[in-house]
Amino acid sequence: MEATTLDQLKGEYRRSGARTGIRLDADEMRKVIALLAHQGPVVETPALELRYIEGMLRLPLDSIGEFSVIPASGRSRCPCGRTPTALDIVAYAVMHKVHEEQLLRDTVIGVYNVFEFADEGRTAPCHRCGRDFTASGYWTHNYLYA
Ligand SMILES: [Zn+2]
Repeated sequence: MEATTLDQLKGEYRRSGARTGIRLDADEMRKVIALLAHQGPVVETPALELRYIEGMLRLPLDSIGEFSVIPASGRSRCPCGRTPTALDIVAYAVMHKVHEEQLLRDTVIGVYNVFEFADEGRTAPCHRCGRDFTASGYWTHNYLYA
């Protein structure tokens, strides 16, 4: 049976033995991203902020083509007026060493398509005002957290 929701799909992957995540082929990856687009408002990280992320992670310029985020609150805008993006999440992860920088780099421009299962989302302070922002999911062309 074709999974029609993200939870159904994760259920299928888990029944097939996946625990915290799974490696996907390009077709499956597209399928999951299509489902994600129905989870809430999707915020595309602006090009300028993608370049900023590349700088923080010491990645080659233009190596990140897209980085989409779904705000858990359903509202894309922080009370300060900023629209939090992947930048807020990555900046927090880099500053607080949530993950090793190499792992972050591999995640963002990795060679494998990886779908990491999210149960609670990721919270980071707004890059402008510091208020908490939670993303229920985010993805690049080859990495999904949802
Ligand atoms: Zn803010």
